[in-house]
Amino acid sequence: MTDLQSQPVSAARGAFDGVRHPGGAEPYYVASGNEVEVFGTAHAAGLPVMLKGPTGCGKTRFVEHMAWRLNRPLVTIACHDDLSASDLTGRYLIRGGETVWSDGPLTVAARMGAICYLDEVVEARQDTIVVLHPLTDDRRLLPIDKTGELVEAAPGFQLVISYNPGYQHALKDLKPSTRQRFVALEFDFPDAAREADIVMHEGGVDRAAATSLVRLSGRIRALRDQGLAEAPSTRLLVSTARLMARGIPAAQACRVALVNPLTDDPDLLAAISDLISATL
Ligand code: ADP
Repeated sequence: MTDLQSQPVSAARGAFDGVRHPGGAEPYYVASGNEVEVFGTAHAAGLPVMLKGPTGCGKTRFVEHMAWRLNRPLVTIACHDDLSASDLTGRYLIRGGETVWSDGPLTVAARMGAICYLDEVVEARQDTIVVLHPLTDDRRLLPIDKTGELVEAAPGFQLVISYNPGYQHALKDLKPSTRQRFVALEFDFPDAAREADIVMHEGGVDRAAATSLVRLSGRIRALRDQGLAEAPSTRLLVSTARLMARGIPAAQACRVALVNPLTDDPDLLAAISDLISATL
């Protein structure tokens, strides 16, 4: 579990939960390769990073871990199709009868040299995403149209975006002009041994239970050939384990936390129920 302190600093609209300052315990993260080293090197070189991979495979946790390791504040923004450039850069607000400028989360991050993580960036509109471009150049600038200010990103500032290639279709994809500004790290679900460690640690179950959940998810993931759109993520396994650790019987925990969130298709539901009975 992460142990970062959250401190709201902006009235910006959208899913921005403030700046998280490093401190406290190291966010638990199990590496699958040398992503920690590569990210650290990109950070030192001032390069923006794109994390590519399916939902629930550890991208957000990785960024939290890296912010802690690099001792940088972390600003996280969950992107959605209503997110505007002003939601990122800032806007004028009326306070006590006066008009005051309020920095948006991207501006806050640039000024303080934070890691700025834009989750599911492809959900944002193209005219919002282009605001990021000047920050990915060598000059690392953020022009704020409304005030005419040109904010120079402080040392330590790094732009990180996440992107799930599985969801994309022609109308909703990152433009090459955006993609090619980022170092792209590929993420996927951890291998079985690592995933069992994660499920034990995060879910609070013993090794036997974690191992059978991971075995079950491996079998469910194989159903993708039969029309299952999304594979069960590590996040779903952790949620299932948490219910089990608090006394919900394994089969029911699997049904409500692992299977039902995945599909509504009666045939697939029946096939997965069979797998649960055969595996647990
Ligand atoms: P994503 O950002 O890719 O959607 P998250 O980082 O939110 O996924 O991961 C979901 C949950 O799964 C985390 O909160 C954590 O409990 C667990 N998890 C997944 N991968 C890892 C990992 N490599 N190390 C530690 N925990 C992980």
